[in-house]
Amino acid sequence: MMPELHMDPELMEEAVFLVLKDQEASGNPAPLKDFHEKRDLIYERKEGREEAFTDLAAQTFRGMGLEELFTGRLREFPGLDGRLRRVSVRSSESRKAEDCELFVSKGSAALLLVGLPPERFLDRPGLMTFLRKELMRADDMLDPAFAYDRRRTIGGESPMEDELIRERFRLLWDLWMAARMKRRGWPTAPGEAGHRKLNGLSEVVTGREHWTQEELLALAKTARDKSGAGMDRRTFLRRAPQELAAGVRGLFSDPAGPKTGQRLAVLDVARCLAWSGVDCQLCHLRCPLREKAILLDSRRPVIVASACDGCGICVKACEAVNQPAAIRII
Ligand code: SF4
Ligand code: SF4
Repeated sequence: MMPELHMDPELMEEAVFLVLKDQEASGNPAPLKDFHEKRDLIYERKEGREEAFTDLAAQTFRGMGLEELFTGRLREFPGLDGRLRRVSVRSSESRKAEDCELFVSKGSAALLLVGLPPERFLDRPGLMTFLRKELMRADDMLDPAFAYDRRRTIGGESPMEDELIRERFRLLWDLWMAARMKRRGWPTAPGEAGHRKLNGLSEVVTGREHWTQEELLALAKTARDKSGAGMDRRTFLRRAPQELAAGVRGLFSDPAGPKTGQRLAVLDVARCLAWSGVDCQLCHLRCPLREKAILLDSRRPVIVASACDGCGICVKACEAVNQPAAIRII
């Protein structure tokens, strides 16, 4: 059975207003006028106004094809039928706070919680791409062949190294999803920069149709340079954040992919005082996303590309103690 869809009524109403106002701004005021007239009739009622407003918003939402954006995507993933019980879509404050979380409980079908800002409905192709990617991720996680285990041991030598491996694993998984989307003719794909910068790992990932979580994780731990030679731990720790930054930028650089002006901090460990043995963690202390965008590995900073928002505060902090700075924004 296809998963049931539950849309937050307030989100539907906000989305309807935004889309109708957008249509009005593009020279088509009639649908918004019609909507207001229907709402005015409801205002005149003495009872049941709230339910009637909710029903009107839901009908209009459906009538504009906004619900179909979700149900149509769910039909594209028949593997979720029976494994995913429900998709609940609620409002998030902004694009940044957009999220998607899968809840799995033993013995019953899973639940997918999606958080979207209302303005997402103004960009239907972008929303479709987002939904396809998140449903594909959920499909993988619920597919016994992928053997996903969220408690699987990562196997790094420190929590920071675990985090880097996890980040690499996420990026490889993203690349694999993007490759499958491309094969299905859907508009998203990793950029070429992402392919090149992961030292050949991305080609390995995108070339195959089936992976297990364990295999992808093992690949994320592969520390090899472009020639295939082994890499010592220090080199892996130095290169991994830059590879991740380039890979993330590669994903975002695809014209059909997510639109973001994302900038990222990149650390040059050869210039960093902490990596030369001096006790400096100024960038870590100043980072507004401390412990997310900058972690410490034995008191030395490492930047997590996917969490960094490129604010540049760490660069300024570094410049105060180190000229030229060991961090730059790319
Ligand atoms: S650019 Fe901003 S978010 Fe990124 S690491 Fe530097 S201070 Fe943190
Ligand atoms: S502030 Fe600069 S020198 Fe100090 S730890 Fe950060 S990157 Fe290294």
